[in-house]
Amino acid sequence: MGSRVSARCLDCDHRFTVTHGGGFFFHQLRCVRCGRAKDVGFDELGDLHTRYLKGSDRPYTVAFAGEHQYVREHLDIEPISAEEYFAAVEAAVKCDCGGALSFDAPPRCPNCGSLQIEEGDSIACYD
Ligand SMILES: [Zn+2]
Ligand SMILES: [Zn+2]
Repeated sequence: MGSRVSARCLDCDHRFTVTHGGGFFFHQLRCVRCGRAKDVGFDELGDLHTRYLKGSDRPYTVAFAGEHQYVREHLDIEPISAEEYFAAVEAAVKCDCGGALSFDAPPRCPNCGSLQIEEGDSIACYD
């Protein structure tokens, strides 16, 4: 699922790591202002995630096929589309710096905020 790669800022030569993608139990969003990644657990989203499962005809991951089927068959809640869900997740959380979080904001240098970064080898994979 997610991966961690080494990165270097082309402006200030700062070296850091960048993580990509969410996991089985969380989404990863990135701050549009400072570029910091923030993990948002499905359990933090409560109904939103459940309503998304209800509105989706596929489980989010195979690991959740059982939960997905249960929600679809037994829970009486208003379904939302994937677009509504992702927009609602972005609206529900904020970065510590006060910036908005987005699923597709680009990573930034944590030292100078530059978008001019070079990504290197993958360091680790995580769920
Ligand atoms: Zn931020
Ligand atoms: Zn930099």
